Amino acid sequence: MTDHSTPITIAVDGYSSSGKSTMARRLAATIGYRYIDSGAMYRAVTLYALDHGMIAPDGTPDTDAITAALPDIHIDFEVQPDGSPQHTMLNGVDVESEIRRLRVSNAVSPVAAIPQVRRALVEKQKAFGAGGGIVMDGRDIGTVVFPDARLKIFVDASPETRAQRRFKELMEKGAAVSYEDVLANVVHRDKIDTTRADSPLRKAEDAVVLDNSHMTVEEQDAWLLNLFNKIISE
Ligand code: C5P
Repeated sequence: MTDHSTPITIAVDGYSSSGKSTMARRLAATIGYRYIDSGAMYRAVTLYALDHGMIAPDGTPDTDAITAALPDIHIDFEVQPDGSPQHTMLNGVDVESEIRRLRVSNAVSPVAAIPQVRRALVEKQKAFGAGGGIVMDGRDIGTVVFPDARLKIFVDASPETRAQRRFKELMEKGAAVSYEDVLANVVHRDKIDTTRADSPLRKAEDAVVLDNSHMTVEEQDAWLLNLFNKIISE
Protein backbone atom coordinates (compact mmCIF):
# COMPACT_ATOMS: atom_id res chain seq x y z
CA MET A 1 0.00 0.00 0.00
CA THR A 2 1.29 3.45 -0.88
CA ASP A 3 1.06 6.21 1.68
CA HIS A 4 -1.06 8.77 -0.22
CA SER A 5 0.34 11.63 1.81
CA THR A 6 3.92 10.96 0.63
CA PRO A 7 4.70 13.32 -2.23
CA ILE A 8 6.11 11.62 -5.28
CA THR A 9 8.54 12.74 -7.99
CA ILE A 10 7.18 13.33 -11.48
CA ALA A 11 9.46 13.47 -14.55
CA VAL A 12 8.19 14.97 -17.80
CA ASP A 13 10.54 14.63 -20.77
CA GLY A 14 10.14 15.32 -24.45
CA TYR A 15 11.13 17.22 -27.54
CA SER A 16 11.49 21.01 -27.82
CA SER A 17 8.20 22.90 -27.68
CA SER A 18 6.19 19.73 -27.12
CA GLY A 19 4.09 21.49 -24.50
CA LYS A 20 5.75 19.55 -21.70
CA SER A 21 6.50 22.66 -19.62
CA THR A 22 2.89 23.81 -19.79
CA MET A 23 1.53 20.46 -18.71
CA ALA A 24 4.16 19.99 -16.00
CA ARG A 25 3.56 23.48 -14.57
CA ARG A 26 -0.20 23.13 -14.59
CA LEU A 27 -0.12 19.71 -12.94
CA ALA A 28 2.21 21.02 -10.22
CA ALA A 29 -0.17 23.92 -9.51
CA THR A 30 -3.18 21.58 -9.35
CA ILE A 31 -1.62 19.05 -6.97
CA GLY A 32 0.38 21.57 -4.92
CA TYR A 33 3.86 20.37 -5.96
CA ARG A 34 6.91 22.45 -6.84
CA TYR A 35 7.59 22.85 -10.56
CA ILE A 36 11.11 23.09 -12.00
CA ASP A 37 11.81 23.86 -15.65
CA SER A 38 15.23 22.28 -16.18
CA GLY A 39 15.44 23.71 -19.72
CA ALA A 40 15.37 27.20 -18.20
CA MET A 41 18.55 26.31 -16.31
CA TYR A 42 20.37 25.34 -19.54
CA ARG A 43 19.00 28.51 -21.14
CA ALA A 44 20.31 30.64 -18.24
CA VAL A 45 23.83 29.18 -18.56
CA THR A 46 23.64 29.87 -22.31
CA LEU A 47 22.57 33.47 -21.75
CA TYR A 48 25.50 33.96 -19.39
CA ALA A 49 27.87 32.45 -21.98
CA LEU A 50 26.49 34.65 -24.77
CA ASP A 51 26.75 37.80 -22.66
CA HIS A 52 30.34 36.97 -21.68
CA GLY A 53 31.57 36.26 -25.23
CA MET A 54 31.90 32.51 -24.65
CA ILE A 55 30.05 31.46 -27.79
CA ALA A 56 31.60 32.00 -31.24
CA PRO A 57 29.53 33.62 -34.01
CA ASP A 58 29.09 30.17 -35.60
CA GLY A 59 27.49 28.93 -32.35
CA THR A 60 30.45 26.92 -31.05
CA PRO A 61 30.67 27.27 -27.27
CA ASP A 62 34.01 27.76 -25.52
CA THR A 63 33.83 24.68 -23.30
CA ASP A 64 36.79 25.62 -21.10
CA ALA A 65 35.58 29.17 -20.45
CA ILE A 66 32.03 28.02 -19.69
CA THR A 67 33.26 25.24 -17.40
CA ALA A 68 35.50 27.70 -15.52
CA ALA A 69 32.57 30.12 -15.13
CA LEU A 70 30.14 27.54 -13.68
CA PRO A 71 30.89 28.43 -10.03
CA ASP A 72 29.90 32.05 -10.86
CA ILE A 73 26.55 31.10 -12.39
CA HIS A 74 23.76 30.97 -9.83
CA ILE A 75 20.32 29.97 -11.03
CA ASP A 76 17.11 30.07 -9.07
CA PHE A 77 13.37 30.37 -9.59
CA GLU A 78 11.30 33.13 -8.08
CA VAL A 79 7.66 32.53 -7.32
CA GLN A 80 5.48 35.42 -8.51
CA PRO A 81 3.26 37.06 -5.89
CA ASP A 82 0.32 37.24 -8.35
CA GLY A 83 0.42 33.47 -8.88
CA SER A 84 1.69 33.73 -12.48
CA PRO A 85 4.43 31.26 -13.57
CA GLN A 86 7.71 31.54 -11.65
CA HIS A 87 10.58 33.48 -13.19
CA THR A 88 14.12 32.24 -13.82
CA MET A 89 16.78 34.23 -11.96
CA LEU A 90 20.42 34.38 -13.10
CA ASN A 91 22.76 35.77 -10.45
CA GLY A 92 19.81 37.55 -8.88
CA VAL A 93 18.55 39.11 -12.12
CA ASP A 94 15.18 38.16 -13.64
CA VAL A 95 16.03 36.71 -17.07
CA GLU A 96 12.72 35.01 -17.76
CA SER A 97 11.93 36.76 -21.04
CA GLU A 98 15.56 37.03 -22.17
CA ILE A 99 16.12 33.24 -22.02
CA ARG A 100 13.10 32.55 -24.26
CA ARG A 101 14.45 34.60 -27.19
CA LEU A 102 15.56 32.87 -30.39
CA ARG A 103 19.12 34.11 -29.72
CA VAL A 104 19.26 31.79 -26.71
CA SER A 105 17.19 28.98 -28.33
CA ASN A 106 19.66 28.88 -31.21
CA ALA A 107 22.69 28.59 -28.91
CA VAL A 108 21.42 26.39 -26.08
CA SER A 109 21.73 22.80 -27.37
CA PRO A 110 25.53 22.84 -27.93
CA VAL A 111 25.94 24.35 -24.44
CA ALA A 112 23.66 21.67 -22.97
CA ALA A 113 25.82 19.01 -24.63
CA ILE A 114 28.87 20.00 -22.52
CA PRO A 115 29.28 17.24 -19.89
CA GLN A 116 30.56 19.65 -17.18
CA VAL A 117 27.49 21.86 -17.64
CA ARG A 118 25.21 18.83 -17.39
CA ARG A 119 26.97 17.56 -14.27
CA ALA A 120 26.59 20.92 -12.48
CA LEU A 121 22.94 21.38 -13.44
CA VAL A 122 21.91 17.77 -12.74
CA GLU A 123 23.36 18.13 -9.24
CA LYS A 124 21.29 21.26 -8.68
CA GLN A 125 18.18 19.59 -10.13
CA LYS A 126 18.61 16.64 -7.76
CA ALA A 127 18.86 19.07 -4.84
CA PHE A 128 15.63 20.80 -5.94
CA GLY A 129 13.94 17.39 -5.99
CA ALA A 130 15.18 16.09 -2.64
CA GLY A 131 12.11 15.06 -0.65
CA GLY A 132 9.82 14.65 -3.63
CA GLY A 133 6.70 16.72 -4.23
CA ILE A 134 8.19 17.96 -7.47
CA VAL A 135 7.29 18.00 -11.15
CA MET A 136 10.38 18.58 -13.31
CA ASP A 137 10.44 18.77 -17.09
CA GLY A 138 13.36 18.41 -19.48
CA ARG A 139 15.15 15.88 -21.67
CA ASP A 140 16.86 13.53 -19.21
CA ILE A 141 14.73 13.82 -16.08
CA GLY A 142 13.33 10.27 -16.19
CA THR A 143 16.59 8.74 -17.40
CA VAL A 144 19.33 10.59 -15.48
CA VAL A 145 18.09 13.14 -12.93
CA PHE A 146 15.31 11.06 -11.31
CA PRO A 147 15.59 7.50 -12.65
CA ASP A 148 13.44 6.35 -9.71
CA ALA A 149 10.61 8.85 -10.31
CA ARG A 150 7.21 7.24 -9.62
CA LEU A 151 5.62 8.85 -12.66
CA LYS A 152 7.44 9.45 -15.93
CA ILE A 153 5.89 10.98 -19.02
CA PHE A 154 7.45 11.28 -22.46
CA VAL A 155 5.75 13.90 -24.62
CA ASP A 156 5.90 13.79 -28.38
CA ALA A 157 4.36 15.75 -31.26
CA SER A 158 5.38 16.36 -34.87
CA PRO A 159 8.08 19.03 -35.48
CA GLU A 160 5.54 21.12 -37.45
CA THR A 161 3.01 21.08 -34.61
CA ARG A 162 5.70 22.04 -32.13
CA ALA A 163 7.10 24.80 -34.32
CA GLN A 164 3.61 26.18 -34.86
CA ARG A 165 3.04 26.35 -31.11
CA ARG A 166 6.37 28.04 -30.41
CA PHE A 167 5.84 30.47 -33.29
CA LYS A 168 2.42 31.46 -31.90
CA GLU A 169 3.95 31.98 -28.44
CA LEU A 170 6.75 34.16 -29.82
CA MET A 171 4.32 36.19 -31.96
CA GLU A 172 2.15 36.82 -28.91
CA LYS A 173 5.25 38.19 -27.19
CA GLY A 174 5.83 40.48 -30.16
CA ALA A 175 9.00 38.76 -31.41
CA ALA A 176 9.93 39.36 -35.05
CA VAL A 177 10.52 35.79 -36.20
CA SER A 178 9.36 33.65 -39.11
CA TYR A 179 7.69 30.24 -38.82
CA GLU A 180 10.49 28.79 -40.98
CA ASP A 181 13.16 30.00 -38.54
CA VAL A 182 11.30 28.52 -35.60
CA LEU A 183 10.82 25.17 -37.40
CA ALA A 184 14.52 25.12 -38.33
CA ASN A 185 15.42 25.73 -34.68
CA VAL A 186 13.12 22.95 -33.43
CA VAL A 187 14.54 20.43 -35.94
CA HIS A 188 18.11 21.49 -35.19
CA ARG A 189 17.65 21.19 -31.42
CA ASP A 190 15.97 17.74 -31.78
CA LYS A 191 19.00 16.55 -33.71
CA ILE A 192 21.57 17.79 -31.17
CA ASP A 193 19.47 16.70 -28.15
CA THR A 194 18.96 13.15 -29.45
CA THR A 195 22.47 12.53 -30.76
CA ARG A 196 24.72 14.06 -28.07
CA ALA A 197 27.02 11.63 -26.25
CA ASP A 198 26.11 12.70 -22.71
CA SER A 199 22.53 11.83 -21.63
CA PRO A 200 20.80 12.18 -25.01
CA LEU A 201 17.06 12.73 -25.14
CA ARG A 202 15.37 9.34 -25.07
CA LYS A 203 12.31 7.83 -23.52
CA ALA A 204 12.89 6.09 -20.19
CA GLU A 205 11.81 2.44 -20.45
CA ASP A 206 9.12 2.94 -17.83
CA ALA A 207 7.80 6.28 -19.18
CA VAL A 208 4.25 6.67 -20.45
CA VAL A 209 4.18 8.21 -23.95
CA LEU A 210 1.83 11.03 -24.79
CA ASP A 211 1.47 12.31 -28.36
CA ASN A 212 -0.38 15.55 -27.82
CA SER A 213 -0.41 16.73 -31.48
CA HIS A 214 -4.20 16.77 -31.51
CA MET A 215 -4.94 17.54 -27.86
CA THR A 216 -5.99 20.78 -26.26
CA VAL A 217 -4.23 21.97 -23.10
CA GLU A 218 -7.34 21.05 -21.10
CA GLU A 219 -7.41 17.52 -22.53
CA GLN A 220 -3.73 17.18 -21.69
CA ASP A 221 -4.32 18.37 -18.12
CA ALA A 222 -7.15 15.88 -17.60
CA TRP A 223 -5.08 13.00 -19.03
CA LEU A 224 -2.13 13.78 -16.74
CA LEU A 225 -4.18 14.35 -13.60
CA ASN A 226 -5.96 11.07 -14.20
CA LEU A 227 -2.63 9.27 -14.51
CA PHE A 228 -1.30 10.94 -11.35
CA ASN A 229 -4.40 9.92 -9.37
CA LYS A 230 -4.08 6.36 -10.60
CA ILE A 231 -0.42 6.15 -9.56
CA ILE A 232 -0.90 7.52 -6.07
CA SER A 233 -3.85 5.25 -5.39
CA GLU A 234 -1.93 2.11 -6.39
O1 C5P B 1 12.98 22.75 -22.53
P1 C5P B 1 13.67 23.81 -23.38
O2 C5P B 1 13.35 23.69 -24.82
O3 C5P B 1 13.50 25.18 -22.84
O4 C5P B 1 15.22 23.46 -23.21
C1 C5P B 1 16.22 24.19 -23.88
C2 C5P B 1 17.37 23.27 -24.25
O5 C5P B 1 18.04 22.83 -23.08
C3 C5P B 1 17.01 22.00 -25.01
O6 C5P B 1 16.95 22.17 -26.41
C4 C5P B 1 18.12 21.06 -24.63
O7 C5P B 1 19.24 21.27 -25.49
C5 C5P B 1 18.52 21.51 -23.25
N1 C5P B 1 17.99 20.69 -22.16
C6 C5P B 1 18.71 19.56 -21.82
N2 C5P B 1 18.33 18.80 -20.75
C7 C5P B 1 17.25 19.13 -20.03
C8 C5P B 1 16.48 20.28 -20.38
C9 C5P B 1 16.88 21.02 -21.48
O8 C5P B 1 19.70 19.23 -22.47
N3 C5P B 1 16.92 18.39 -18.97
